Amino acid sequence: MFKVGFSQLAHRPFHSFFEMFKLIPTMIKLKSYRSVFSLVSSHMEHDKLRQAFSIQPLLVGGNPFNTTSIYSLIHFLEFKDGIHFARGGMGKLVSALIKLMKEEGIKIYTDTKLEKIIFEKNKISSIQTNKGVIKCDHLISNTDPEYFYSQFVKKNTIKVNLRRKFYKKSMGLFVLYFGTQKVYENIEHHTIILGKHYKKLLEQIFKHKKLSEEISIYLHRPTATDKSMAPEGCDSFYALVPVPNLDANYNWKRKGVELKDLVIKRLSETIMPNLSEHIKTIFWKTPQDFKDDYCSPSGTGFSIAPLFYQSAWFRYHNKGEGIDNLSFVGAGTHPGAGLPGVLSSAKVIESLLINKYL
Ligand SMILES: Cc1cc2nc3c(=O)[nH]c(=O)nc-3n(C[C@H](O)[C@H](O)[C@H](O)COP(=O)(O)OP(=O)(O)OC[C@H]3O[C@@H](n4cnc5c(N)ncnc54)[C@H](O)[C@@H]3O)c2cc1C
Repeated sequence: MFKVGFSQLAHRPFHSFFEMFKLIPTMIKLKSYRSVFSLVSSHMEHDKLRQAFSIQPLLVGGNPFNTTSIYSLIHFLEFKDGIHFARGGMGKLVSALIKLMKEEGIKIYTDTKLEKIIFEKNKISSIQTNKGVIKCDHLISNTDPEYFYSQFVKKNTIKVNLRRKFYKKSMGLFVLYFGTQKVYENIEHHTIILGKHYKKLLEQIFKHKKLSEEISIYLHRPTATDKSMAPEGCDSFYALVPVPNLDANYNWKRKGVELKDLVIKRLSETIMPNLSEHIKTIFWKTPQDFKDDYCSPSGTGFSIAPLFYQSAWFRYHNKGEGIDNLSFVGAGTHPGAGLPGVLSSAKVIESLLINKYL
């Protein structure tokens, strides 16, 4: 699965159905129509092991019970290459990219919002931002494709309209960031605290779009690897909780506060006793913030879900549809969410643009 799903397919464009068609026998041979949970269950009997070995789709926005088993390649990816952390946090990765772009003479505009696309026939001639108009030979966008097509393109192709209508979205995320005045030496860099009911909880989130009292938490403690992530004698964390996206009608201002309390309670009952007494700084993000701050449709954490019929050719194409000089990178296009996927989409674009322009 790793060989096919990652090595062979992740860096290749999939805008031609013929490419997808050629793949069908391999996909059938790999039984990629099965879910990750079903594949894991065919190898393991113990309930807890089945849970532990099938949670990976949640890291890219999918329900393990219907995400294509191809995504079990994440296990092998982690096993083969290890799990990496950028020292200083994700911001350092951004600073390094900014440095590289500046060295290449690339101009960067920050705090600038794309507001309108100006077309000449089926080509983009310029973009309008809140700070002015920028001429454009070719636009590469890492906004969510659904947001892009719905906001900026008046007449979409039938294929795009069908995608927008039928695509299933990934779940929302509640992320609680907090710093403590105490060091938790015994907590690892990555901890997953599962709720009591695995399948039921996932159904509540993905199918019924309901929040429940029971939650699962991924707890991130970067200080376990990199002491610079907190001042001396302190510790830093984020707790990530899968929740329904904005298709569920919750008041996230209120729910955010309730979830904050629930996460602290759950952590206090398990691995961080009396946590509230040690918290020095705290803030959180809800699906509403993902929508407001990142223009994520339905406030999802990972764009459209990684289902079999939303992968490769079935996903939003890297090559803009119906627009000549547009490309997409990022979570909503092929191959999908997560940094390895997002960087692979950039490689896809590189090959497309070299073929088109050089
Ligand atoms: C809490 C959390 C933890 C994660 N942890 C990991 C991890 O450990 N490993 C991993 O591999 N992946 C992780 N991911 C997933 C990974 O971060 C995403 O898949 C990835 O960032 C998606 O990249 P992107 O470029 O598609 O979108 P984004 O990173 O969301 O970038 C899109 C950008 O476009 C901007 N934008 C949108 N509309 C406009 C507009 N009109 N004008 C101007 N700007 C606009 C948004 O503000 C945003 O900054 C995590 C995600 C979350 C939420």
